[in-house]
Parts: sequence; structure tokens; C-alpha cells
Amino acid sequence: MHVEALSPLQRVLIIAGAAVLLPVIAVLALLLRNEFADRQAAVEQSALENAHVLIELADALLRGDLQTMRVLATSVPLVTGDLATARDRAAVVLDANPGWTSIALSDAATGQVKFEVGRAGPGAAAQGAPFAAPPPGGSVGGVERVGANCPCVRLQMSVLLQPRNVLRVTLDPAIFQDIMMRRLPAGAVGAIVDRTGLFVARSLDYADRVGTPATSFVQEAVARGGEGFYEGRTYEGLVNVTAYASSPTSGWSAHVAIDRALVSGPRARASAIMLGGSIIALAIGGLMVAYALADLALRRREEAQLLELQKVEAIGRFTGTVVHDFKNLLAVMQAGMNQIARDTKEPRTRERIEMVRAAIQRGTRLTNQLLSFSRADGGEVCEVDLHALIADLEDLIRKTIGRGVELEVRIAPEARAVRANADQIELALLNLAGNARDAMEGSGRMTITAEPEPEGEMIALRVADTGPGFAPEVLEQLFRPFFTTKDPGKGTGLGLAQVEGAVRNAGGTIEARNAEGGGAEFILHLPRARSGAPAATPDRTAEA
Ligand code: ADP
Repeated sequence: MHVEALSPLQRVLIIAGAAVLLPVIAVLALLLRNEFADRQAAVEQSALENAHVLIELADALLRGDLQTMRVLATSVPLVTGDLATARDRAAVVLDANPGWTSIALSDAATGQVKFEVGRAGPGAAAQGAPFAAPPPGGSVGGVERVGANCPCVRLQMSVLLQPRNVLRVTLDPAIFQDIMMRRLPAGAVGAIVDRTGLFVARSLDYADRVGTPATSFVQEAVARGGEGFYEGRTYEGLVNVTAYASSPTSGWSAHVAIDRALVSGPRARASAIMLGGSIIALAIGGLMVAYALADLALRRREEAQLLELQKVEAIGRFTGTVVHDFKNLLAVMQAGMNQIARDTKEPRTRERIEMVRAAIQRGTRLTNQLLSFSRADGGEVCEVDLHALIADLEDLIRKTIGRGVELEVRIAPEARAVRANADQIELALLNLAGNARDAMEGSGRMTITAEPEPEGEMIALRVADTGPGFAPEVLEQLFRPFFTTKDPGKGTGLGLAQVEGAVRNAGGTIEARNAEGGGAEFILHLPRARSGAPAATPDRTAEA
């Protein structure tokens, strides 16, 4: 991540923005999620209410039928054992109850049928294994599919004072189907099942399904009893969430499937919103962290650069004061030697004097270089004609690089005029030439070119050689004062520090890299002079 240096205000705004945005997203996502969760809860609640209503209606119907049976079971003909009259009474009751399909009286102990009346002839009510006497209030059986007067639901009740005589009534389950279909919202899927999990009523495919076992999902709910919800799949393959409620008296239960679109829609939307919210919050958080890290790295870099600069300046100041004193001492020595040389004719002594003078001159050159490095920030900047400057310096450069090294100079006409300190640029070029010579060890090519840069504000002055180029660890500290890879006495580590100082003084920058074809390449980005007519190069013969 690239981070530009931001102002403190921008930083505060970004952090404040993120700090406000994150909780807002979280709260919005939570509110929306709750909204959908509420809607889903409402849908589920309404299905559960429907199931309750259905099972209560079925219960009411059964209670009414048991009530009617009680009237019969406590009637005089039955209680007194007047079977002929009792049978007639039963036929009348059967007629009056359209939901009833047959009435029979049996002996609970022997299973013997004492009488039977049925809409489709005798059969169902009397059928079935002998059974224990039902409780006084009567009992509700399950649904049966096969037999005359079936599919049917069986009710039983003992005759008053004659517990062995059991009255059995069969009902047509269609009455339960009717009340369920009247009650269920249009298009809803529902069923009523008995306590063994057989269908008493079913909104889909009633005729084929009545009296047959419901799915395992329904069976499990029946086994659990009470009320609640379960996820299931109908025989038609409809995956659903179903609300159910059971009756404690009959053991039957009503099941109402919830429209999947109503449940999964809000649920999916709520999840999508939570997911979306989380992703956005995470992305913002991630960006914040990345930004903070990048910002930290940038600050560290800036601090390191500042420290380096301060170090260089400190070294420069220190060098300046010490070297100045040295230069004065050298001047005194030089003057002394000149004096002695004038006074001495003796050849051996003169020879020695020359040696000392040469050493003093080398010392002076070195102190000049040190001084130019320490003063690099202060040299006056004016318009310089690169073409003229290099033309004047060419001889000196050639001498520096030696005969084995070719020199190639190409200064584009539109790149001639730069703003810099001419003395410093000359010294920089000589330093670069000295380094090129050392790198190429006597043979190769040194190229100096100048071209305008695309933006038009700067001129690129390139100095390249065909030496080995830079090792990465050298490239890192190239411009650091006193950094050298050369043997003691050969390198001072001040050459490139001077070059860098000269460029910085001109308001430019410097790059060093390994050239594509091999060798080292320095690019001095120098500000272009505006007038276009470069001033004459200052006379530098005195310096040379
Ligand atoms: P010095 O030349 O006294 O060592 P400089 O500051 O001029 O000091 O150079 C520092 C180091 O940079 C050199 O010791 C050398 O390792 C490396 N260097 C400079 N110029 C070149 C070049 N043209 N090719 C390869 N390495 C170079």
C-alpha cells in the first residue's frame, strides 16, 4: 500500500470517519437483522396459532360426538338391555349425525356384536379385536382406512351401569378434513394426524392419504407431543418448517407448514445483511490496519532519512572546522617549503623538498575535497551551461580516467542550461570519473549524457561506466560520507557524498543504479534554467 504523507487533519478525519462508520454499519446490520427476525417470528407464530385452532376445533367436534354418545349410552333401552328399542334409537341418532357412519353395541369380554346400524351396511363399528372397556367418559381411537363405512375414526363408550356393553361409533374423517380446509389460509399445507401418526385430514391428496402413516418428521413430532416447530419434507418433496400442536385428550395433533418463502426469505436476507455488514466492516478495519502499518513504515522511513541527513550535516560541520585549520597549517607548511627551496641549492635537499611539497599538495587537494563536501549546502547557485562546462573539463576527465578508457559525451542542445553551482558540478564530475576509473580498472567506456526529463522541469545528467556495477549492500550506503570499499589510503568515502551534496544544493536529486547492459549509472536530476540562454561558464582554470 502506498501512503502519501498525510496532514494531521487528514489523519484525524480518516480515523474519525472509520470510527463513526464502523459502529453505524454494525448497528444498521443488527437492526435490519432484528427486523427480519421479528418478521420471521411473526410468520411462525401465526402458523402455530393456526395449528392450535385446528386441533381445538377437532377436539370440540370429538367432544360433541362423545356427548351425543353419552346420551345414547345412558338411554333407558340400552341401560335396561332392551336391544330392539336400543337399535331403533341408534338408527335415529345415526340419521341425525351426518358425520357418523355406523353405531354398534358389543360385549367387551366376548366381542359378540349385540346390534349394529351403518350407512353402508354393517361392518366397521363392530370390527376390530375385542377391547378393554373404555373409560366412563369414552375414548377416541385412531383412524382406519379399510373396511365397510371406512375410512373411519372410532369412538367408544361403556353403557351406563353395564361396563361390559360397549357402544362403538365410527365417524367419517371427511368432517375433520372439512373444518381443516375451511380454517387453513388459502394455499397453506396442513394435516391432522391421530396419536399413532396416521393422517385423519390432509390438505394435499386427502383421499389417497387418509388413514396412512405420515412422514417420519411428523411421527417424531407426534412422539414429542405438546407444541412446537420442526423442519421436514412432505411426501411431495416440499421442504418446509412446520408448526404443530397436539391435544392432550385425543392425542391427535394438527400440523401447519409455513410457507418457505416467508421463512427462508427473511432469514436469507438477514444473513445476507449480516454477512454484507461484516464484510464491509472487515474491509474498513483491514484498510485501517493496512493504512496504519503503511503510515508507520512511512514515518519510520522519514525519520531514518532525517536522521541520516542530520548525521551528514553534523559530519559536514565538524569536517568544515577541522579541515579549515588543517588547510591553514598546510598553507604555512607550503610557504615554509617555498622559502627553504629558494634558499637551498643542494640537489639532494631540493629533491626532498619536492617530495614534501608534493605531499603538501596532495594534502591540500584532500582538504579541498573535504571542504567542498562540508560546504556543499552553501554554494551559490546560478545558470550553468553544461555543454561548455564539460567541454572545458574534458581534458581533466580524460586524464582522470586514463588512456584505456573511452569517453563519450552527448549533451542535448535543449539540456544545456541548468541551475547549479558550477564548481560543485565540476568537482562532482571529476569524482564520478575517478570512481569510474577505479571500477573499470583501466579499460572500458565512460559516458556522460544530458537530456531534458519528460516533465520538462528537470535535466537528467547521466554518468555511466562499463565496470562491474554495485553490489546491493554497496548501493544502499553509496552516498553516506566516509563509506568506501576501497583499501585504506585509496578511498576516503567522500566522493559521492560531495556529488550528492552538489546536487542537493542545486535543488535536485541523485539516483544510482546498475545499468541495463551492466556497469554503474548515476543520474543527476538538476533543475532546468528558465532563461534558456546559459551564462558563460565561470572561469575555473585557477581551480584546476
Ligand atoms: P571512495 O571512492 O573514496 O570509496 P565514494 O563516495 O566516491 O568514495 O564511493 C563510495 C563507494 O561507492 C566506493 O568505495 C565504491 O565501492 C562505490 N562506487 C562508487 N562509484 C562506483 C562505480 N562507478 N562503480 C562501482 N562502484 C562504485
